[in-house]
Amino acid sequence: MAIYNPKSHKAEEFINHEEILETLRYAEENKHNIKLIDQILAKARPQKTQNGLHCTGLNHREASVLLACDIPQKVEEMYQLAKEIKLAFYGNRIVLFAPLYLSNYCINGCVYCPYHTKNKHISRIKLTQDEIRNEVIALQDMGHKRLAIEAGEHPSMNPIEYILECINTIYSIKHKNGAIRRVNVNIAATTVENYRKLKGAGIGTYILFQETYHKQSYLELHPTGPKHDYDYHTEAMDRAMEGGIDDVGLGVLFGLEKYKYEFAGLLMHAEHLEAACGCGPHTISVPRVKRADDIDPSVFDNGLSDDIFEKIVACIRIAVPYTGMIMSTRESQEVREKVLELGISQISGASRTSVGGYTKEERLHDSEQFDVSDQRTLDEVVGWLIDQKHIPSFCTACYREGRTGDRFMSLCKSGQILNCCHPNALMTLAEYLTDYASEETKKKGFAMINDELNKIPRDKTREIASKNIEAIKTSDSRDFRF
Ligand code: SAM
Repeated sequence: MAIYNPKSHKAEEFINHEEILETLRYAEENKHNIKLIDQILAKARPQKTQNGLHCTGLNHREASVLLACDIPQKVEEMYQLAKEIKLAFYGNRIVLFAPLYLSNYCINGCVYCPYHTKNKHISRIKLTQDEIRNEVIALQDMGHKRLAIEAGEHPSMNPIEYILECINTIYSIKHKNGAIRRVNVNIAATTVENYRKLKGAGIGTYILFQETYHKQSYLELHPTGPKHDYDYHTEAMDRAMEGGIDDVGLGVLFGLEKYKYEFAGLLMHAEHLEAACGCGPHTISVPRVKRADDIDPSVFDNGLSDDIFEKIVACIRIAVPYTGMIMSTRESQEVREKVLELGISQISGASRTSVGGYTKEERLHDSEQFDVSDQRTLDEVVGWLIDQKHIPSFCTACYREGRTGDRFMSLCKSGQILNCCHPNALMTLAEYLTDYASEETKKKGFAMINDELNKIPRDKTREIASKNIEAIKTSDSRDFRF
């Protein structure tokens, strides 16, 4: 039997089944242990230090106790704490991005995904570089600056050379004042050498969802194709980091397995990256299984209620305070509204999950990966965020200034976010409002910017940010950043 060892690079040692079962037993035994729960909450609270606020986070056992606890008053305290941590380290900013599907050719047999190889009726599409150019122009014309590219796994149709060429094309397009400044990549687990090539192409985060940490379920849910190899998939982030990618994004596809098991596995994965690779994950995504072409989500009997979904987000926020959290348009406006303040830092907007979807008037369903619940335009999403007092941000400054991996974490911990991320968010919002927004969104957006500028503590920074915003409004000067 494998022994739990977060420093090991072997999947069965850092995601250790026995340790997860022991964690779940411990959480169940202590879920009403108020003394312990209070101690855990106290440990997770932001503490004042010379450099501002600091959080220690929680380990997977402590966080699992919180997740198991169903005492209403304690759950409420968790939500308050999650909101406090979110505000302390991420402020009221929400970064916006869009997925871009390049190709849905795939040789895997994932039973929850409509791109599985046995699906013979779905339209298979692989975008040419010209088609990518048109998609990117459509995305730039909406106002997007940050993309997550998505592709099925197909060594001959979607080899790494194709992905690299697409990244190159995307970065090269400058249409009007538009530009894609950060390309995150969500492609199948690959080799160290390929990760090195992705790093060389200037990618932002490498995202790979674990789908499920439960090995037995994983093998059944991925019956055929290279993705069937649980160890290779689970060890992908170690290889990505070895290849020089220091921003990696984890995620579980909630609904496939029991959520408490997945939650413990996810946190163990984060702890492992910190222990073995020197830096925790840049982001954690929280997708839930959705209806799609030949996929009925009710077949998977571990679907989550919205209440449990909220609790998971809050507990992740408390456990890993410096890790960004991503929520996609798989979630409805209603769910997004509740969960945003509990710890989400990035959301997608106006997403099309079909290949070539951004250049079509109508939503295409014949090559779509999943049904999109939030179908609003980017302008509607931006306007809604402003109404909810969240600052819509199109910022990509950190990675372009080399603040990746532990350098980003240091910024987060340094208390300088109000002098750095906050003005960057406001300047990129000003770009969006000037170049793409409706009159209504523009009006409330600039009112928000005026209020929020006052929150920048350093006089000099506030002065420069105000000057830059004026330049954005009155000229074609763009891409200011701290
Ligand atoms: N092919 C790559 C891979 O296997 O990791 C890229 C990822 S795929 C384009 C993006 C993600 O969509 C998958 O990792 C999976 O979690 C999610 N996904 C697949 N089918 C889904 C469904 N029916 N509902 C919601 N999400 C789904």
